[in-house]
Amino acid sequence: MSDLQKLQERVLRFRDERDWKQFHNPKDLAISLLAEAAELLDEFKWKDEKQIAQHLRENKESVSDEVMDVLYNTLLIAADLDIDISKEFERKMQSNEAKYPIEKSSGNNKKYTEI
Ligand SMILES: [Mg+2]
Repeated sequence: MSDLQKLQERVLRFRDERDWKQFHNPKDLAISLLAEAAELLDEFKWKDEKQIAQHLRENKESVSDEVMDVLYNTLLIAADLDIDISKEFERKMQSNEAKYPIEKSSGNNKKYTEI
């Protein structure tokens, strides 16, 4: 069992122990994922680069909490939609590699449609 599968089993056990699956559907899990991503964004809102660096030094755990909340929701959605995370992540990375070939993308921040 991969580390990702272990994490996924952990979040599914957490949910099942609380009988929360009845409240979860793809739409609401996507809303929850976005809400947690917004909480992550809020950690950095209105801060310049220097303030962000300081915030990260002083609040690493709260930032980490939001990243983990995003992962938690991602793992739940993937499980409910029967998405094989390891397989689909590799497929998506291969797609990204095709969109962003190293020779055109190295050191270049343009979107793949513009390179
Ligand atoms: Mg959160």
